[in-house]
Amino acid sequence: LGRLYGPLTAMSNVQVDVMTALVSFERVLEVLDLEPTVAEKPDATDLRAAKEKHGATVELDAVSFRYPGADEVSLASLESVATLQGEVHRNTLDDVSFTVPAGHMVALVGHSGAGKTTISQLVTRMYDPTQGAVRIAGTDLRDVTQASLRATVGVVSQEAHLFHDTIAENLRYARPDATDAQIERALEQAHIADLVASLPDGIHTVVGDRGYRLSGGERQRLAIARMLLKAPDVVILDEATAHLDSGSEAAVQAALDEALTGRTSIVIAHRLSTVRKADSIVVLSDGRVVDQGTHAQLLARGGVYAELYRTQFESGATVAA
Ligand code: ATP
Repeated sequence: LGRLYGPLTAMSNVQVDVMTALVSFERVLEVLDLEPTVAEKPDATDLRAAKEKHGATVELDAVSFRYPGADEVSLASLESVATLQGEVHRNTLDDVSFTVPAGHMVALVGHSGAGKTTISQLVTRMYDPTQGAVRIAGTDLRDVTQASLRATVGVVSQEAHLFHDTIAENLRYARPDATDAQIERALEQAHIADLVASLPDGIHTVVGDRGYRLSGGERQRLAIARMLLKAPDVVILDEATAHLDSGSEAAVQAALDEALTGRTSIVIAHRLSTVRKADSIVVLSDGRVVDQGTHAQLLARGGVYAELYRTQFESGATVAA
């Protein structure tokens, strides 16, 4: 997801100021990411209606996916016929199936490049699967309106990008009509209200590059507050890999616990505490699901998860557990 938000950082402050005035945060994402690779059908339906009926279950059904243009990239890097046979037909995701029941948390784990971020891009419909289907509330995402999908799925990325604007306005990107009271409430739930209250202008304090400088943990909590204000039924969370000091770490964890409660969530997990809490862990390797189960089940089975646990999770156990 870093890639998704990356272009935002690349923009100069001047551009950001102009964009801030003109468009909402969602629109910024739209403008940056797309030239959409996906289109809305003329008869697209409102996902919220299906969700009322069936609950916000997320389902990947035999999903295979290859990034547009990925073939040319592989061909250019080929060195032998053997690699050609091995690489050209390789999908980024290959026959991936799993279900996140409404209100449950699924953790995605796997080595770098295994396909975790790609899955989050399919659930937000940045792309459509090459084969198979992604469904929310039993409805294929290709059949729903973009607006209802955006209202249903919220993303918290590793790096919270703040515009050069007040804290209140930064949160309103998620919900333009939010009142100050609703903003204060979201800040409280995200465990950052005290800090904001201590700033000279409270929620009207200007943040961002030329404003009040927030720490990484504080920015994350603002991103969580932004998500809470939007109140989506489905949350995709890309857990930060960067080390936070233990005070910040605890506050971010508390904010996340609050934010994920009662929501359907897919977490790209980097912390032991998260994989322990997850209702189910999906283990990815080279774009395939190689195992699925709870932390205890997977650890007992050994294999890819046990190795990931030793290399990625156990080392951070004292901080994260
Ligand atoms: P990490 O933990 O490093 O973020 P990941 O498990 O999230 O890795 P993905 O980012 O989903 O992995 O990447 C899966 C594969 O898809 C990688 O081989 C990557 O190089 C490739 N890939 C990712 N984004 C694109 C893109 N926009 N175009 C082409 N290939 C891509």
